[in-house]
Formats: sequence, C-alpha cells, structure tokens
Amino acid sequence: MTGAALSIQNLTKVYAKSDTHALKSVSLNVAEGDFFALLGPNGAGKSTLIGIVSSLVKKSGGTVRLFGYDLDKELSAAKACLGLVPQEFNFWQFEPVIEILINQAGYYGLPHRRARLQAEKYLKKMNLWEQRKKQANELSGGMKRRLMIARALVHEPRLLILDEPTAGVDVEIRRLMWSFMNELNKRGVTIILTTHYFEEAERMCRNVAIINEGSIIAHAPKYQLLERADSEVFTLYLARPLKQSIQLPQLSVKQLEPQVLEVGMQSDQTSVSKIFSQLEAQGVTVKGMSSKNNMLEQVFMQLVDKKSMGKPQ
Ligand code: ADP
Ligand code: MG
Repeated sequence: MTGAALSIQNLTKVYAKSDTHALKSVSLNVAEGDFFALLGPNGAGKSTLIGIVSSLVKKSGGTVRLFGYDLDKELSAAKACLGLVPQEFNFWQFEPVIEILINQAGYYGLPHRRARLQAEKYLKKMNLWEQRKKQANELSGGMKRRLMIARALVHEPRLLILDEPTAGVDVEIRRLMWSFMNELNKRGVTIILTTHYFEEAERMCRNVAIINEGSIIAHAPKYQLLERADSEVFTLYLARPLKQSIQLPQLSVKQLEPQVLEVGMQSDQTSVSKIFSQLEAQGVTVKGMSSKNNMLEQVFMQLVDKKSMGKPQ
C-alpha cells in the first residue's frame, strides 16, 4: 500500500474558445489508501482536473498516472482502476436503475451473471434495491446521487473519485455518504473528493490540497494545514441578555444577538477558560459555546491573501 494511486505532473488545461487557463502546471500525488480532499472555490479547476484524470476532458499538457499506468499509453488499464462520480448526473434518464448498473459492469468487461450480482450488491448497499425497476428519472435527487455512486463502484475500482458528492444533498443523505465513504476507505479503496465545503474536507480527509485559480496553493496532511490557522472564532451563548458593553482585551468581540457573542482570538494568544473568567468578572455568565469550525477556511483565506500580496507561502 505504498505506491501512488494518482500521480499528476505539470498538468495544464486551456479551454481554447474562452482562452481560460483552468489548470496552470498542477502537480499532485495521492498515495494508495488515502482519503484525500481537493478543496477550492467554484471555478478553481477541480472538475477540470477530475475530468482529465477520468479521460473525459482533453488535457493541454502534462502527465497523469493511475496506479502507475500512464493515461496516454495504458488508458484501459488506468481506467479499470478508477470509479468516477461526476458532479452532474449523466445517466440515460429512461433506463431502469438496475440496467444502468449492469451495463456499466458490462462496459468494464464483467460477464453478465457477475454483472447482475455486482449490481444487486451495490444497489442494496446504497438503499436502492426497491427502486431497481424504476427509470432513473423517477428517482429523487438524493437517490440519483446514490445511483451514481453505485454505478461508479460496480466494477470494484481501487480509486473512487467523487466530484462535489454532497453539493445540494440533504443532511441525512450527506451523513449516509460520509459513513459509506469511510467504510470503503477502511476496506482499502483510495478516495479523492472535491468539495467547496471546508467543513467536509476538515471532517473527512487525511490529506488536503487547496486549489485556487488553477494552481495548487497548499498540499499537506490536514493537521499540518490546520496548524497554520492563526486565529479561532467561538460563538458564546450567554445566560442572560447583555445589558452593558464588555471588555475583553486584545480579542475581537461581536455581539450577534442580545445573548450571543462571537469572539475571535489568536491561536496562541489566550485560553477559552480565561475568556470565561474575564466575562464572569464582569457579571456575564456563559451557558454554552461552539467553535465556528472553519479553520481550513481560514487557512485558505490566509494563503490567498499572501499570494495576492506576492509573498511566498
Ligand atoms: P470547479 O470545478 O473548481 O468549480 P471548473 O474546473 O469547473 O472549476 O472550472 C475551472 C475554469 O474553467 C472556470 O473558469 C470555468 O469557467 C472554466 N471551464 C470549465 N469547463 C469549461 C468548458 N467546458 N469550456 C470553457 N471553460 C470551462
Ligand atoms: Mg466543479
């Protein structure tokens, strides 16, 4: 389990019509067994990168290898390793659900009997067995999303790539997907997901690359990136509405509601218990608190700010 599942070197993409430089010499390695997030805002180049890796988009330059197989030279071997869940639904809407899976398995060379068994296995896993005879267009949005995942897994790929898998999906389905992705990863499947939700990357992944305007601006284990966050924001819920203004030296304090404060502090500056006692001394009791849990977002903003000011990272 030590090789690279995905290895990208100097990848570039120019969409000629609009002269958009969507990828600017991107290099990236994802180790076998990893749970990896490619994180970045809309338009950063995530889908373009995924499109090239899954040979749906033609690259302008650079090399891509999947488990050592060069996409230019060993395309079918490379493709067999990969399952893709694209950002947009792309199955034929009038085909019955089970046929979509069987056909996909057939496309990867599975004999019909085996294809049927695999289709059954993944439809059951994705809670879609009851829907197997329905046409795809009769499914709800969340079911369609799960169908895309089942279809990507039917040939048991070693690498699963999901492009914004939880965008526009409700909380329940999102949780189901998270736990399913975790289970797959535990069984040894390498997972790469793209997301613009910082929270999702922060919660799920071991390694993160941040992409912005076609360039990778950070690539590190998640905890290493989080250490770079230089401030933290807490929401404090007070026992009673605040009547007076309060003083917390060197901290930024915003009153969101009569009983809710937002306090920002430098990571190494002070401790939460010190804030509590300073407030207590001013007659303010804190009933509860939550961290705003947006540290990756902060790291991202820090990196983008540095870049736009021309400083090295
Ligand atoms: P992301 O998935 O991170 O939101 P994309 O890879 O979809 O980003 O887009 C990266 C850039 O390339 C954007 O500026 C987008 O407008 C442009 N782009 C994406 N697809 C096409 C296309 N088919 N033709 C022209 N420009 C495109
Ligand atoms: Mg996209």
